[in-house]
Amino acid sequence: MSQIVGVMLPLPFNDVFDYQAPDNVGVGSIVLVPFGKDKQIGVVFKIGASAKLDETKLKSIIKVFPFVLEQKLIRFVEWVAKYNLAFVGLTLKMVLCAKGAFDDPKMHILYRLSGKTLAQAKLKNSDARWRVMDLLKHAPYSQSEIIQATAVSPSVLKTLEKAGIIESMNIKIDEPTQEQAVHDFPVVLTDEQQKAANVLIENIKRGFNVTLLDGVTGSGKTEVYLRATIEALSQKKQVLILVPEIALTTQWLERFEKRFGFKPYQWHSALNQTERSKTWRAVIQNKAKVLIGARSALFLPYADLGLIVVDESHDQTFKQEDMVNYQARDMAVVRAKIEDIPIILSTATPDLETIVNVEDGKYQHIVLKNRYAAAELPEIKIIDLKKDKPQKGDWGTSWLSPSLCNALQKTFDDGLQSMLFLNRRGYAPLMICRDCGTRIQCPNCTAWLTEHRTQKQLICHHCGYTIETPKRCPQCGSQTGLNACGPGVERIAEEVKFRFPLSKVEVISSDTVNSFKNISDIISRMEKHQIDILIGTQILAKGHHFPLLTTVGIVDADLGLMGSDLRAQEQTFQLLSQVSGRAGRSEKKGTVYVQTLYPESTVLKALISHDRTLFLNTEKKNRQMLYLPPYGRLASLIISSPYENLAQKAAIHLAKIFPHQDGTFLLGPAPAPIYMLRGKYRYRLLLKTLKTINIQNVITYWLKNVDFPSNIRLEVDIDPYSFM
Ligand code: ADP
Ligand code: ZN
Ligand code: ZN
Repeated sequence: MSQIVGVMLPLPFNDVFDYQAPDNVGVGSIVLVPFGKDKQIGVVFKIGASAKLDETKLKSIIKVFPFVLEQKLIRFVEWVAKYNLAFVGLTLKMVLCAKGAFDDPKMHILYRLSGKTLAQAKLKNSDARWRVMDLLKHAPYSQSEIIQATAVSPSVLKTLEKAGIIESMNIKIDEPTQEQAVHDFPVVLTDEQQKAANVLIENIKRGFNVTLLDGVTGSGKTEVYLRATIEALSQKKQVLILVPEIALTTQWLERFEKRFGFKPYQWHSALNQTERSKTWRAVIQNKAKVLIGARSALFLPYADLGLIVVDESHDQTFKQEDMVNYQARDMAVVRAKIEDIPIILSTATPDLETIVNVEDGKYQHIVLKNRYAAAELPEIKIIDLKKDKPQKGDWGTSWLSPSLCNALQKTFDDGLQSMLFLNRRGYAPLMICRDCGTRIQCPNCTAWLTEHRTQKQLICHHCGYTIETPKRCPQCGSQTGLNACGPGVERIAEEVKFRFPLSKVEVISSDTVNSFKNISDIISRMEKHQIDILIGTQILAKGHHFPLLTTVGIVDADLGLMGSDLRAQEQTFQLLSQVSGRAGRSEKKGTVYVQTLYPESTVLKALISHDRTLFLNTEKKNRQMLYLPPYGRLASLIISSPYENLAQKAAIHLAKIFPHQDGTFLLGPAPAPIYMLRGKYRYRLLLKTLKTINIQNVITYWLKNVDFPSNIRLEVDIDPYSFM
């Protein structure tokens, strides 16, 4: 018997394709189907025919895999696609992102004793044979394990098997279920922490609810949400912990393992296919009890999810801008709603959207006011670079003011550690020729090439275009004209090494650390005080705990404020607060030095006084006035093409056919701030609507009949974060 089913494929489509399927196939079945000349793995979304095709011409499903996705997950996929105006198929692709996971787990051959003796088999006694037989007395082992343990050659095994003394058996290798018992929980919570934990534990029983866990860095938010984790585990539920950057969670993982006695599963882009498959299966089979992952972990097929935690929930890396655009924090709330489970957003610097949801009564708010134990908030000192000017030295231009240098010297003399923060990779952001004024630009992007001196290269940070650093100016040929302009972390390191020749200096940025091991290495050396001054990009901002770190220097606080992004102010405030939070995390008080040309800015005023409300209120007013999120809705449309005139025409056409109505505002078209990116010209339209208007419907209606040729690309981004 057979039936017709609708299969969603991991391709840019919103509709299912019809196939003949055996009767045991239902909604959620993962299946292999023929598609064109290819085969595709898809998921049954529907029973019954969708298109009016001749049934006899429909192709048949090739294979049904032994896993079934839950209806709730299918609803989630459809919801995410609809909200973000993304293809359902491509959204589903994020669920099916572990090729090879859907097959039966690999079979594994183990050997055991049959009971037959050497004498019965008429084989001679030999030392090698006895070693194997002794080993297998205890348990079955695989060939490689036997060889490793007994140092015999494979031929010995072959002989024993042929003679019937040992026999092989097939075993499915599968992941063991993670232990759920909490071994040891030595941490006694403070009153404030305990109260917070009690609320979260109560919430576990309440179905869907959102809590903002809001506390200064070092107040024990992690300790508190781990209590909620334990509660969910004790109810045999799975727990998902989303983090902005998994490579930075080494300390977190150690802490977790110590407490719980097992390692959480991890999910991130650096996993290989085998690890992916294993983890994917452990998640759907309810064997993975705790999973910590980057934003894509939100799309895994949890069998019985009981709690989601979004750590550092304000972080902008939760916004994905690739294939499917989505904000993982917001989508996590949606998943929690569909699963009817609690979700915790944990941060020291909540974003305005979250704060407004608290004020509207949609989210619960738990505040931790105090840092744990003796740790005080660091003192923040603003350095006005107009008055406290960096002094030139033997190495050339300087970027560190005398006060910051004094502080670094004193910290070093006291046997303590410092951290310098500059959110710019490489040596210098620009090469300019002093003889002819040429600036070396990327041929593919509207961007300067950044000098990376250790690699002797100039690199475009947008498209990766790389050339060897030229010895002469490519324009006028001058051999002396080329000069590095402005600092990157490498250049700061150069100055620091000149100024403090006795100190051990290290640079951390995505160029210098390209693997987990690298990052963990530097962090563990910092912990052991094998580094005196650590210099880095925003990688440094995230939650590490170094007891001897007392001085933090922010080399250029104005850097983030130059962009025209809607969230530039907010992100700068968050970043500076986070970096400041690194200082003085234990008994020793910390000091943060902030170098700026604009000491009067609201961001800095709020930062010095640790007054987040001051900052948020200003930000609220600005956004309210302009109907910007969360007081209005926003979407960006980027039109790009390798042909400049096509891009421009298409953008003008889109604006012309826009269906104006009350409460919608169309801005543009305008050349995007990065006009050329990866060889494509880009125009941007911004659509703003009142909150009462469904912006997705407006866009769908607007683009209904738009059909650009393949050399023009249109990308829609709902709730955009990047305005490049
Ligand atoms: P946050 O997540 O708010 O930055 P953490 O939970 O990481 O704070 O706590 C900061 C530091 O203080 C950690 O080293 C943590 O182990 C320690 N800590 C917090 N609360 C307690 C407690 N109740 N008992 C012992 N140590 C604690
Ligand atoms: Zn020149
Ligand atoms: Zn480029």
